[in-house]
Amino acid sequence: MKAANRDFTRELNLFNILNSIREAGMISRVEIAEKTGQSRASVTNITALLIERGLIREDRVASSSSRGRRRIMLMLNPEAAYAVGIKIAAFRLSFAVVDFVGQVKSTLSVPLRVGERSVAMLADVAEDGILHCLEKAKLKLKDLCGCGLALPGFVDSASGTCFWTPIQNGSSDIRTLLAQRLGMDVYLENDANAFTVASQWFGLGKGVRNFLVVTIEEGIGMGIVVDGKLYQGATGIAAEFGHMVIVPDGEPCRCGKFGCFEAYSADSGILQQSRKALQGRKNGPDLDMLTIEEVTRLARDGDRKLRKIFQQSGEFLARGVAGLIQIFNPERVIITGEGVRAGDLVFTPMYRLLGKYLNHEQAMATQVLVQDWNDHDWAQGAAGFVLNEIYKSPLDKIQRNG
Ligand SMILES: [Zn+2]
Repeated sequence: MKAANRDFTRELNLFNILNSIREAGMISRVEIAEKTGQSRASVTNITALLIERGLIREDRVASSSSRGRRRIMLMLNPEAAYAVGIKIAAFRLSFAVVDFVGQVKSTLSVPLRVGERSVAMLADVAEDGILHCLEKAKLKLKDLCGCGLALPGFVDSASGTCFWTPIQNGSSDIRTLLAQRLGMDVYLENDANAFTVASQWFGLGKGVRNFLVVTIEEGIGMGIVVDGKLYQGATGIAAEFGHMVIVPDGEPCRCGKFGCFEAYSADSGILQQSRKALQGRKNGPDLDMLTIEEVTRLARDGDRKLRKIFQQSGEFLARGVAGLIQIFNPERVIITGEGVRAGDLVFTPMYRLLGKYLNHEQAMATQVLVQDWNDHDWAQGAAGFVLNEIYKSPLDKIQRNG
Protein backbone atom coordinates (compact mmCIF):
# COMPACT_ATOMS: atom_id res chain seq x y z
CA MET A 1 0.00 0.00 0.00
CA LYS A 2 1.36 3.44 -0.90
CA ALA A 3 2.09 5.80 2.00
CA ALA A 4 -0.51 8.30 0.80
CA ASN A 5 -3.14 5.57 0.67
CA ARG A 6 -2.18 4.36 4.12
CA ASP A 7 -2.54 7.87 5.53
CA PHE A 8 -5.86 8.23 3.81
CA THR A 9 -7.16 4.93 5.17
CA ARG A 10 -6.08 5.88 8.66
CA GLU A 11 -7.76 9.29 8.39
CA LEU A 12 -10.93 7.62 7.17
CA ASN A 13 -10.89 5.09 10.03
CA LEU A 14 -10.24 7.93 12.42
CA PHE A 15 -13.21 9.88 11.12
CA ASN A 16 -15.49 6.83 11.30
CA ILE A 17 -14.52 6.17 14.89
CA LEU A 18 -14.96 9.82 15.87
CA ASN A 19 -18.31 9.79 14.14
CA SER A 20 -19.51 6.67 15.94
CA ILE A 21 -18.56 8.21 19.29
CA ARG A 22 -20.43 11.40 18.38
CA GLU A 23 -23.52 9.48 17.29
CA ALA A 24 -23.61 7.27 20.38
CA GLY A 25 -22.74 10.00 22.88
CA MET A 26 -21.01 7.38 25.02
CA ILE A 27 -19.61 4.11 23.69
CA SER A 28 -17.06 1.40 24.57
CA ARG A 29 -14.16 0.32 22.36
CA VAL A 30 -15.77 -3.08 21.80
CA GLU A 31 -18.98 -1.44 20.61
CA ILE A 32 -17.02 0.83 18.25
CA ALA A 33 -15.31 -2.21 16.70
CA GLU A 34 -18.71 -3.86 16.19
CA LYS A 35 -20.25 -0.72 14.74
CA THR A 36 -17.45 0.25 12.36
CA GLY A 37 -16.25 -3.23 11.42
CA GLN A 38 -12.66 -2.30 12.34
CA SER A 39 -10.41 -4.63 14.33
CA ARG A 40 -10.15 -4.10 18.09
CA ALA A 41 -6.43 -3.41 17.69
CA SER A 42 -7.13 -0.68 15.16
CA VAL A 43 -9.82 0.83 17.41
CA THR A 44 -7.38 0.80 20.35
CA ASN A 45 -4.68 2.55 18.30
CA ILE A 46 -6.94 5.17 16.84
CA THR A 47 -8.77 5.98 20.08
CA ALA A 48 -5.36 6.43 21.75
CA LEU A 49 -4.50 8.94 19.04
CA LEU A 50 -7.83 10.74 19.49
CA ILE A 51 -7.26 10.95 23.25
CA GLU A 52 -3.75 12.30 22.60
CA ARG A 53 -5.17 14.92 20.25
CA GLY A 54 -7.64 15.88 22.96
CA LEU A 55 -10.69 15.14 20.83
CA ILE A 56 -12.17 12.42 23.04
CA ARG A 57 -11.90 11.33 26.67
CA GLU A 58 -12.52 8.28 28.81
CA ASP A 59 -14.99 7.84 31.61
CA ARG A 60 -15.64 4.84 33.85
CA VAL A 61 -19.28 3.98 34.26
CA ALA A 62 -20.98 1.18 36.20
CA SER A 63 -21.81 -1.68 33.89
CA SER A 64 -25.37 -2.96 33.93
CA SER A 65 -24.42 -6.48 32.86
CA SER A 66 -21.37 -7.46 34.91
CA ARG A 67 -21.86 -7.11 38.66
CA GLY A 68 -20.19 -4.07 40.16
CA ARG A 69 -17.61 -3.79 37.40
CA ARG A 70 -17.00 -0.47 35.76
CA ARG A 71 -16.67 -0.19 32.00
CA ILE A 72 -14.47 2.34 30.25
CA MET A 73 -16.57 4.45 27.93
CA LEU A 74 -15.45 7.01 25.37
CA MET A 75 -17.05 10.36 24.64
CA LEU A 76 -16.25 13.54 22.76
CA ASN A 77 -14.29 16.10 24.75
CA PRO A 78 -16.54 19.21 24.81
CA GLU A 79 -13.48 21.43 25.25
CA ALA A 80 -11.67 20.01 22.20
CA ALA A 81 -12.81 22.87 19.96
CA TYR A 82 -15.08 25.88 19.92
CA ALA A 83 -16.78 27.56 16.98
CA VAL A 84 -18.82 30.70 16.51
CA GLY A 85 -21.85 30.98 14.27
CA ILE A 86 -23.52 34.10 12.93
CA LYS A 87 -26.90 34.21 11.29
CA ILE A 88 -27.58 37.25 9.14
CA ALA A 89 -31.30 37.94 8.85
CA ALA A 90 -33.05 40.97 7.35
CA PHE A 91 -33.34 42.79 10.69
CA ARG A 92 -30.99 41.00 13.04
CA LEU A 93 -27.58 39.49 13.53
CA SER A 94 -27.57 36.48 15.91
CA PHE A 95 -24.45 34.92 17.39
CA ALA A 96 -23.71 31.68 19.21
CA VAL A 97 -20.48 30.16 20.50
CA VAL A 98 -20.63 26.38 20.82
CA ASP A 99 -18.26 23.72 22.11
CA PHE A 100 -17.24 20.49 20.39
CA VAL A 101 -20.48 18.71 21.31
CA GLY A 102 -22.64 21.60 20.12
CA GLN A 103 -23.53 22.96 23.56
CA VAL A 104 -24.17 26.68 23.47
CA LYS A 105 -21.68 28.60 25.62
CA SER A 106 -23.02 32.11 24.90
CA THR A 107 -25.39 33.92 22.56
CA LEU A 108 -26.10 37.45 21.40
CA SER A 109 -28.71 39.12 19.24
CA VAL A 110 -28.18 42.54 17.64
CA PRO A 111 -31.07 44.32 15.88
CA LEU A 112 -29.81 45.77 12.60
CA ARG A 113 -31.41 46.81 9.33
CA VAL A 114 -29.00 44.74 7.28
CA GLY A 115 -30.21 45.93 3.87
CA GLU A 116 -29.41 49.56 4.70
CA ARG A 117 -25.85 48.94 5.95
CA SER A 118 -22.59 48.64 4.05
CA VAL A 119 -20.68 45.35 4.08
CA ALA A 120 -17.85 47.04 6.04
CA MET A 121 -20.28 48.08 8.76
CA LEU A 122 -21.80 44.61 8.82
CA ALA A 123 -18.30 43.20 9.34
CA ASP A 124 -17.76 45.70 12.21
CA VAL A 125 -20.91 44.56 13.99
CA ALA A 126 -20.07 40.90 13.34
CA GLU A 127 -16.55 41.30 14.74
CA ASP A 128 -17.74 43.17 17.85
CA GLY A 129 -20.50 40.61 18.38
CA ILE A 130 -18.04 37.72 18.26
CA LEU A 131 -15.70 39.39 20.75
CA HIS A 132 -18.61 40.10 23.09
CA CYS A 133 -19.85 36.50 22.84
CA LEU A 134 -16.37 35.15 23.52
CA GLU A 135 -16.02 37.33 26.59
CA LYS A 136 -19.35 36.03 27.91
CA ALA A 137 -18.15 32.45 27.35
CA LYS A 138 -14.78 33.25 28.98
CA LEU A 139 -12.96 32.30 25.78
CA LYS A 140 -10.42 33.99 23.53
CA LEU A 141 -10.33 34.46 19.76
CA LYS A 142 -7.54 31.88 19.53
CA ASP A 143 -9.84 29.26 21.12
CA LEU A 144 -12.08 29.31 18.04
CA CYS A 145 -11.49 26.82 15.24
CA GLY A 146 -13.60 28.81 12.79
CA CYS A 147 -16.57 31.01 12.13
CA GLY A 148 -19.75 30.02 10.29
CA LEU A 149 -21.84 32.60 8.46
CA ALA A 150 -25.41 31.60 7.62
CA LEU A 151 -27.68 33.61 5.38
CA PRO A 152 -30.83 32.96 3.39
CA GLY A 153 -30.63 32.63 -0.39
CA PHE A 154 -28.61 30.80 -3.02
CA VAL A 155 -25.24 30.02 -1.47
CA ASP A 156 -22.56 27.70 -2.81
CA SER A 157 -20.68 26.74 0.34
CA ALA A 158 -17.87 24.95 -1.53
CA SER A 159 -16.72 28.18 -3.20
CA GLY A 160 -18.07 30.50 -0.49
CA THR A 161 -20.19 32.32 -3.06
CA CYS A 162 -23.59 33.87 -2.54
CA PHE A 163 -25.50 34.08 -5.84
CA TRP A 164 -28.61 35.71 -4.47
CA THR A 165 -29.98 36.69 -1.08
CA PRO A 166 -33.20 38.49 -0.14
CA ILE A 167 -31.17 40.64 2.29
CA GLN A 168 -29.26 42.84 -0.19
CA ASN A 169 -25.92 43.49 1.45
CA GLY A 170 -25.32 40.03 2.79
CA SER A 171 -22.93 38.94 0.06
CA SER A 172 -19.82 36.79 0.05
CA ASP A 173 -17.68 39.94 0.52
CA ILE A 174 -18.42 39.85 4.20
CA ARG A 175 -16.91 36.38 4.40
CA THR A 176 -13.54 37.57 3.02
CA LEU A 177 -13.63 40.72 5.11
CA LEU A 178 -14.41 38.84 8.31
CA ALA A 179 -11.79 36.16 7.62
CA GLN A 180 -9.13 38.90 7.29
CA ARG A 181 -10.17 40.62 10.50
CA LEU A 182 -10.47 37.47 12.59
CA GLY A 183 -7.50 35.66 11.06
CA MET A 184 -9.44 32.40 10.83
CA ASP A 185 -11.49 30.36 8.36
CA VAL A 186 -14.95 31.74 7.76
CA TYR A 187 -17.46 29.39 6.15
CA LEU A 188 -20.45 30.70 4.24
CA GLU A 189 -23.53 28.52 4.02
CA ASN A 190 -27.21 28.79 3.29
CA ASP A 191 -28.96 29.15 6.68
CA ALA A 192 -31.23 26.12 6.27
CA ASN A 193 -28.32 23.90 5.19
CA ALA A 194 -26.23 25.05 8.16
CA PHE A 195 -29.11 24.27 10.50
CA THR A 196 -29.59 20.85 8.85
CA VAL A 197 -25.95 19.90 9.33
CA ALA A 198 -26.15 21.01 12.96
CA SER A 199 -29.33 18.90 13.42
CA GLN A 200 -27.44 15.95 12.04
CA TRP A 201 -24.66 16.49 14.53
CA PHE A 202 -26.47 17.59 17.63
CA GLY A 203 -30.22 17.68 17.05
CA LEU A 204 -33.19 15.63 15.91
CA GLY A 205 -31.24 14.37 12.89
CA LYS A 206 -28.58 12.64 15.00
CA GLY A 207 -28.14 9.06 13.82
CA VAL A 208 -30.87 9.44 11.15
CA ARG A 209 -29.59 8.48 7.68
CA ASN A 210 -32.33 10.12 5.60
CA PHE A 211 -34.12 13.21 6.78
CA LEU A 212 -35.41 16.59 5.61
CA VAL A 213 -35.59 19.92 7.39
CA VAL A 214 -38.12 22.59 6.44
CA THR A 215 -37.57 25.99 8.04
CA ILE A 216 -40.29 28.61 8.14
CA GLU A 217 -39.38 32.23 8.86
CA GLU A 218 -39.30 35.30 6.57
CA GLY A 219 -38.80 32.75 3.81
CA ILE A 220 -39.01 28.98 3.60
CA GLY A 221 -35.76 27.04 3.63
CA MET A 222 -34.95 23.41 3.34
CA GLY A 223 -32.14 20.95 3.96
CA ILE A 224 -31.82 17.43 2.55
CA VAL A 225 -29.78 14.62 4.09
CA VAL A 226 -29.58 11.53 1.91
CA ASP A 227 -27.71 8.49 3.15
CA GLY A 228 -26.04 10.53 5.88
CA LYS A 229 -24.90 13.36 3.60
CA LEU A 230 -26.18 16.84 2.94
CA TYR A 231 -27.42 17.00 -0.63
CA GLN A 232 -26.44 20.30 -2.26
CA GLY A 233 -27.18 19.82 -5.95
CA ALA A 234 -25.08 20.47 -9.06
CA THR A 235 -24.23 24.09 -8.22
CA GLY A 236 -24.80 24.01 -4.47
CA ILE A 237 -28.19 25.70 -4.47
CA ALA A 238 -30.52 22.73 -4.17
CA ALA A 239 -33.48 22.50 -1.81
CA GLU A 240 -35.07 25.86 -2.61
CA PHE A 241 -38.41 24.41 -1.67
CA GLY A 242 -39.82 27.89 -0.90
CA HIS A 243 -39.48 29.03 -4.51
CA MET A 244 -41.40 26.17 -6.03
CA VAL A 245 -44.42 27.68 -7.80
CA ILE A 246 -47.57 26.40 -6.15
CA VAL A 247 -50.15 28.82 -7.64
CA PRO A 248 -49.53 29.80 -11.29
CA ASP A 249 -49.48 33.63 -11.62
CA GLY A 250 -50.28 33.90 -7.92
CA GLU A 251 -49.02 36.26 -5.20
CA PRO A 252 -45.72 38.11 -5.90
CA CYS A 253 -42.67 36.53 -4.23
CA ARG A 254 -39.50 38.20 -2.90
CA CYS A 255 -37.49 36.34 -5.57
CA GLY A 256 -39.28 38.14 -8.41
CA LYS A 257 -41.53 35.27 -9.47
CA PHE A 258 -45.26 34.85 -8.78
CA GLY A 259 -47.07 32.17 -6.83
CA CYS A 260 -44.07 30.67 -4.98
CA PHE A 261 -44.83 28.50 -1.97
CA GLU A 262 -43.03 31.09 0.19
CA ALA A 263 -45.55 33.78 -0.83
CA TYR A 264 -48.27 31.71 0.94
CA SER A 265 -46.67 29.82 3.79
CA ALA A 266 -43.68 31.90 4.99
CA ASP A 267 -44.04 34.74 7.52
CA SER A 268 -43.51 37.30 4.73
CA GLY A 269 -46.27 35.70 2.64
CA ILE A 270 -48.75 35.48 5.52
CA LEU A 271 -48.05 39.12 6.40
CA GLN A 272 -48.51 40.23 2.78
CA GLN A 273 -51.87 38.48 2.52
CA SER A 274 -52.99 39.72 5.95
CA ARG A 275 -52.38 43.33 4.89
CA LYS A 276 -54.66 42.77 1.91
CA ALA A 277 -57.31 41.09 4.06
CA LEU A 278 -57.31 43.89 6.65
CA GLN A 279 -57.36 46.77 4.15
CA GLY A 280 -60.17 49.25 4.69
CA ARG A 281 -61.26 47.66 7.95
CA LYS A 282 -62.67 50.12 10.47
CA ASN A 283 -60.67 50.26 13.75
CA GLY A 284 -58.22 47.76 12.25
CA PRO A 285 -54.50 47.71 13.07
CA ASP A 286 -52.01 50.13 11.45
CA LEU A 287 -51.12 48.22 8.26
CA ASP A 288 -47.73 49.90 7.84
CA MET A 289 -46.68 48.75 11.30
CA LEU A 290 -48.29 45.31 11.11
CA THR A 291 -46.07 42.45 12.35
CA ILE A 292 -46.40 38.67 12.00
CA GLU A 293 -46.71 38.41 15.80
CA GLU A 294 -49.72 40.74 15.76
CA VAL A 295 -51.35 38.91 12.86
CA THR A 296 -50.86 35.59 14.72
CA ARG A 297 -52.45 37.06 17.86
CA LEU A 298 -55.45 38.43 15.91
CA ALA A 299 -55.96 35.03 14.26
CA ARG A 300 -55.77 33.28 17.64
CA ASP A 301 -58.36 35.74 18.99
CA GLY A 302 -60.72 34.52 16.29
CA ASP A 303 -60.34 36.82 13.24
CA ARG A 304 -61.88 34.58 10.60
CA LYS A 305 -60.20 36.11 7.55
CA LEU A 306 -56.77 35.80 9.14
CA ARG A 307 -57.44 32.27 10.41
CA LYS A 308 -58.24 31.33 6.83
CA ILE A 309 -54.83 32.64 5.68
CA PHE A 310 -53.04 30.48 8.28
CA GLN A 311 -55.22 27.51 7.36
CA GLN A 312 -54.30 27.91 3.70
CA SER A 313 -50.65 28.15 4.69
CA GLY A 314 -50.97 24.78 6.48
CA GLU A 315 -52.79 23.22 3.55
CA PHE A 316 -50.07 24.32 1.11
CA LEU A 317 -47.45 23.09 3.55
CA ALA A 318 -49.14 19.65 3.53
CA ARG A 319 -49.08 19.64 -0.26
CA GLY A 320 -45.39 20.52 -0.30
CA VAL A 321 -44.31 18.17 2.48
CA ALA A 322 -46.34 15.27 1.02
CA GLY A 323 -44.55 15.82 -2.29
CA LEU A 324 -41.17 15.75 -0.55
CA ILE A 325 -42.04 12.55 1.31
CA GLN A 326 -43.04 10.88 -1.94
CA ILE A 327 -39.77 11.86 -3.60
CA PHE A 328 -37.37 11.16 -0.74
CA ASN A 329 -39.06 8.54 1.46
CA PRO A 330 -37.24 10.06 4.48
CA GLU A 331 -37.28 8.61 8.00
CA ARG A 332 -38.05 12.03 9.38
CA VAL A 333 -39.19 15.50 8.33
CA ILE A 334 -38.33 18.22 10.85
CA ILE A 335 -40.37 21.42 10.50
CA THR A 336 -38.98 24.33 12.47
CA GLY A 337 -38.14 28.04 12.39
CA GLU A 338 -39.76 31.12 13.91
CA GLY A 339 -42.91 30.34 11.89
CA VAL A 340 -43.80 27.42 14.20
CA ARG A 341 -45.18 30.07 16.57
CA ALA A 342 -48.42 29.76 14.56
CA GLY A 343 -48.93 26.32 16.15
CA ASP A 344 -52.37 24.74 15.61
CA LEU A 345 -53.41 27.51 13.22
CA VAL A 346 -51.08 25.99 10.61
CA PHE A 347 -50.22 22.48 11.77
CA THR A 348 -53.70 21.11 12.46
CA PRO A 349 -54.72 21.60 8.79
CA MET A 350 -51.28 20.38 7.69
CA TYR A 351 -51.46 17.08 9.60
CA ARG A 352 -55.09 16.55 8.53
CA LEU A 353 -54.22 16.84 4.84
CA LEU A 354 -50.94 14.92 5.03
CA GLY A 355 -52.98 11.79 5.77
CA LYS A 356 -55.01 12.45 2.65
CA TYR A 357 -52.10 13.24 0.33
CA LEU A 358 -49.87 10.29 1.28
CA ASN A 359 -50.22 6.61 0.55
CA HIS A 360 -50.37 4.49 3.68
CA GLU A 361 -46.87 3.00 3.24
CA GLN A 362 -45.28 6.42 2.76
CA ALA A 363 -47.11 7.91 5.71
CA MET A 364 -46.04 5.02 7.96
CA ALA A 365 -42.37 5.31 6.95
CA THR A 366 -41.98 8.99 7.83
CA GLN A 367 -42.24 10.88 11.10
CA VAL A 368 -43.25 14.52 10.59
CA LEU A 369 -42.08 16.52 13.62
CA VAL A 370 -42.66 20.17 14.46
CA GLN A 371 -39.70 21.36 16.50
CA ASP A 372 -39.89 24.35 18.85
CA TRP A 373 -37.63 27.18 17.95
CA ASN A 374 -35.10 29.16 19.95
CA ASP A 375 -33.75 32.53 18.89
CA HIS A 376 -30.17 31.30 18.77
CA ASP A 377 -30.92 28.10 16.81
CA TRP A 378 -29.79 29.59 13.49
CA ALA A 379 -26.48 30.79 14.88
CA GLN A 380 -25.94 27.46 16.65
CA GLY A 381 -26.52 25.81 13.27
CA ALA A 382 -23.88 28.01 11.65
CA ALA A 383 -21.38 27.11 14.39
CA GLY A 384 -22.25 23.41 14.08
CA PHE A 385 -21.55 23.63 10.38
CA VAL A 386 -17.99 24.77 11.17
CA LEU A 387 -17.38 21.76 13.44
CA ASN A 388 -18.70 19.50 10.71
CA GLU A 389 -16.37 21.06 8.12
CA ILE A 390 -13.39 20.60 10.38
CA TYR A 391 -13.90 16.94 11.13
CA LYS A 392 -15.36 15.94 7.82
CA SER A 393 -14.34 12.68 6.22
CA PRO A 394 -11.21 13.05 4.08
CA LEU A 395 -13.20 11.31 1.37
CA ASP A 396 -15.36 14.44 1.09
CA LYS A 397 -12.33 16.65 0.63
CA ILE A 398 -10.98 14.48 -2.15
CA GLN A 399 -14.33 14.40 -3.93
CA ARG A 400 -14.65 18.14 -3.62
CA ASN A 401 -11.17 18.80 -5.00
CA GLY A 402 -11.38 16.16 -7.70
ZN1 LIG B 1 -39.96 32.90 -4.95
